[in-house]
Amino acid sequence: MSDFIPLCVPEIRGNEWAYVKDCLDTGWVSSVGGYVDRFEKSVAVASGRTHGVATCNGTSALHIALLLAGVAPGDEVLVSSLTFVAPANAIRYLGAHPIFVDAEEAYWQMDVSLVEGFLARCERRESGLYNPASGRRVAAVLPVHALGHPVEITRLVGVAARYGIPVVEDATESLGATINGQPVGSHGLSACFSFNGNKILTTGGGGVLVTNDDALSVRAKYLTTQAKDDPVEYIHGEVGFNYRLTNLQAAMGCAQMESLPAYVDRKRAIAERYVGELSGAPGLSCMREAPGVRSSFWMFTILVDSSVYGMDSRALLRALGSENIQSRPLWQPLHLSPAHPGSEVLGGAVSERLYRDALSLPCSVGLRDADQERVIRLVRELAKS
Ligand SMILES: *Cc1c(COP(=O)(O)O)cnc(C)c1O
Repeated sequence: MSDFIPLCVPEIRGNEWAYVKDCLDTGWVSSVGGYVDRFEKSVAVASGRTHGVATCNGTSALHIALLLAGVAPGDEVLVSSLTFVAPANAIRYLGAHPIFVDAEEAYWQMDVSLVEGFLARCERRESGLYNPASGRRVAAVLPVHALGHPVEITRLVGVAARYGIPVVEDATESLGATINGQPVGSHGLSACFSFNGNKILTTGGGGVLVTNDDALSVRAKYLTTQAKDDPVEYIHGEVGFNYRLTNLQAAMGCAQMESLPAYVDRKRAIAERYVGELSGAPGLSCMREAPGVRSSFWMFTILVDSSVYGMDSRALLRALGSENIQSRPLWQPLHLSPAHPGSEVLGGAVSERLYRDALSLPCSVGLRDADQERVIRLVRELAKS
């Protein structure tokens, strides 16, 4: 049996050992320490922001970002349907309701035209913008920059601003990507990154909320550290959260951040090779990059047209699996999710088709050329086999 080729695993080859050892040697292992501050700063700088607030994961960063965007119980938030479930869950933690927005055909990101059409149907009142269908206030838009590729974010922020709606960016999958030279995560009121083990960089688990808003960043730090007003007397002004990142994890994050440009380059080289070798193959097409965008190609994904290719995406998944190669479909579109029943959806057909046809292929930063060669050869041989 050939060696196992995983889908996407962490790459640890820089100063991780040295920085983590430093924490162990000095005893600064927990939720304060120099690495936390340094990590926050480096993620802020990489995303073109003035402030970063570290959190224990990306989901908690989204929770706090939505809360600080003013999302309240009973409100509605527009969110991408074709995404990992975390952003919809963060909306629900606040007692708010997701409205799922379909993907556009070309780059599989939140369809801004659907958002525009929806907001135009809403009613303006003194207290905000209201969805006439539900009678609820529309409080925010939460676009997900999915798979390493940005949403059409400049246009989206412009549309939302016309209606006075804040945009919180879920940039958890797309650290290192740019749009017209601007880093992903630099456009909305705030943006969130994840450093989970499957992302382009990892701290084991972790997140960072970034913003240019001074007051928002102070509030975010306060709420993620138990809302402590007096550290001596243990006086807490309100109900806070224990969403802190440890110095140990941040130490690893500082080392990982040093590798970001090299890792994005490697992801792009892997993608380029797949595109070159697979996009001409019958029944296969590859994820693309919009003009002006530099994708991080976090998760390289193809579409399988079963009538031409000879098997569907799930059969291909099983065939690759039997050769010890890991692949994975995209996520069940959230408007179909049993976790979010009865939610409103704008469109839906595009994400359903992508869910049916898409398959992500091995794309770890450390993927060896010979291993990628094996994946490509097999995917080509399996056509009409
Ligand atoms: C990974 C991810 C998150 C955050 O995940 P955590 O595991 O909580 O760090 C949020 N949104 C999306 C779209 C993600 O892919």
